[in-house]
Amino acid sequence: MRIFDGHCDVLWKMWENPDISFQDLASMHVTYPQLKSRRSSVQVFAIYVPQKVSREGQFAAALQMVDIFFEKILAFSPGMKLIRNEAELKRLADGETGAILSLEGCDCIGNDLSRLRILHQLGVRSVGLTWNFGNAAADGILEPRGGGLTSFGEEVVTFLNSKNCWTDVSHLSERGFWDCLEKANNIVATHSNAKVLCDHPRNLTDSQINGLIEKNGRIGVTFVPSFLNSCQASATIRDILKHLDHVCSLGGVRHVGFGSDFDGIEDTPAGLSAYREYENLVNEVLKRYPEEQAVRFFYQNFADYFTCV
Ligand SMILES: [Zn+2]
Repeated sequence: MRIFDGHCDVLWKMWENPDISFQDLASMHVTYPQLKSRRSSVQVFAIYVPQKVSREGQFAAALQMVDIFFEKILAFSPGMKLIRNEAELKRLADGETGAILSLEGCDCIGNDLSRLRILHQLGVRSVGLTWNFGNAAADGILEPRGGGLTSFGEEVVTFLNSKNCWTDVSHLSERGFWDCLEKANNIVATHSNAKVLCDHPRNLTDSQINGLIEKNGRIGVTFVPSFLNSCQASATIRDILKHLDHVCSLGGVRHVGFGSDFDGIEDTPAGLSAYREYENLVNEVLKRYPEEQAVRFFYQNFADYFTCV
C-alpha cells in the first residue's frame, strides 16, 4: 500500500536538533529508510517556524528549513524526489519516494507576497494560512479575536489558486476556514480530526467537514493523540478508525486521507510509534474496507488532488 501523508514536522525537528540525521530511527518518527521501504510513497514536509523566533528572524528560519530539506534530506536520500507538480507525481517510479514541501503558517512572510513567491520557487506547494495564532493573513484557531482572512490573506489565496497549490485550513480560525472555503480552489485540512468525536479546537465540526466535501476538498485524519480521543489517556488505532469512519459517513470516502503530524508530536497512538507502523493502520483499515477504498484513503485521494502545474 502506497502512502501519501499530508503533514509531518521533520524539518522543524531537524532545525531544532542539528545533529539528528534523517536516518536516525531513535530520534525521528519519519526516516528515509522507513519511507523507502514503503515503495513509491509521498510525504509532505512542513516548514514550521516556531513562535519563539523573532518576527525579523522568521523568514531566515524558514529558508534554513528549506536548506535542511535539500542538504540533509534529499542529498542523503537516493531515490527521493522533490514533487512540484502533477507530472512529477505521476512520474514517481517504483522504489522512489516523493517529497512535497509545505508551509505551516504565513507568519514568516509577514505581509510580503514576494516571500511567498520565493518559497513557491523553492518548491512549496501547500500553504497553511496560520498556525494557532494571528498573523497578517488571518487568525489561527486559538487567537481570541477570531478574525477571518485579511485582504493580504485573500492575496495569498489568490496566489495559491493561480498556481493550483493547496490552501491548508488546519489551524485556521473558524471564520478563516469559511473565508477560504469560499475563495480557495484547492482546499485541504492536512491534519485535523472530527470535533464531534473529540472536542478539541483543532478539530473540524461536521458542517466544516461537509463544507470541505461539498467543495471537493480533502481532510487528513491526524494521529495527534489529543485530537483523537478526548480522554487523552491513550489514543489507539481504533480511535483513528473512528475518525476515518465518521468522515466517510458524511460522504467523504473520496475526500479523506491521513496527515500523521509525525515528528511534530511527542506522544503517538498505541501501535503507531513511528512511520514504519503505518503497516498496523493499513492492516486495520483493510479489515473494514475494500482494498480499492483503502487505496483511496492512504494514497489516491490526496494524490488525485495534487494538480499543481
Ligand atoms: Zn500543525
